[in-house]
Amino acid sequence: MSAVHTAYLLLGSNLGDRATILRDAVQHLRATAGTVEATSGLYETAAWGLEEQPTFLNQAVRLQTKLTPELLLDTCQQAEQLAGRERLVRWGARTLDVDILLYDGLVLDTPRLTVPHPRLPERRFALVPLAEIAANVVHPEAKCTVTELLVACPDTLPVTRIN
Ligand code: AMP
Repeated sequence: MSAVHTAYLLLGSNLGDRATILRDAVQHLRATAGTVEATSGLYETAAWGLEEQPTFLNQAVRLQTKLTPELLLDTCQQAEQLAGRERLVRWGARTLDVDILLYDGLVLDTPRLTVPHPRLPERRFALVPLAEIAANVVHPEAKCTVTELLVACPDTLPVTRIN
């Protein structure tokens, strides 16, 4: 039997029915990637820099999976495509972003995939939801917990829990 891994993902949506898009993405992960062990609440975040963009909803997910990081990324991109395809005509833009934040204690840097996600330490919109379900998980490069990363994060963008 292949080993089970713990992965943390961040889902984000800023177009369309954002909460439904995130819920459908979690369902897709359940059906294709493994067991969804925990989900954070939904957090509303202003879009970085571009004020004309609608605000984002973000959610962190803890997954138990037998997929390799590369196969997990395939699954995440499949979820993005499904969301995009459904909304393409009406909204004309991608509606779902799925990032792999952490995968066990793995450090990986290939042309296609960097784990831990390289911008995690500087993004409150990722750290705040992640801290809800992974407060004491250690970032394998920073060698500190998610909570400690959040405390040290220079980003001041408001991240508000909405449910
Ligand atoms: P984005 O436009 O931000 O969704 O970036 C998508 C691209 O980032 C894809 O082509 C992925 O191959 C690449 N990528 C690298 N590392 C990661 C990661 N940890 N999670 C998701 N995508 C990643």
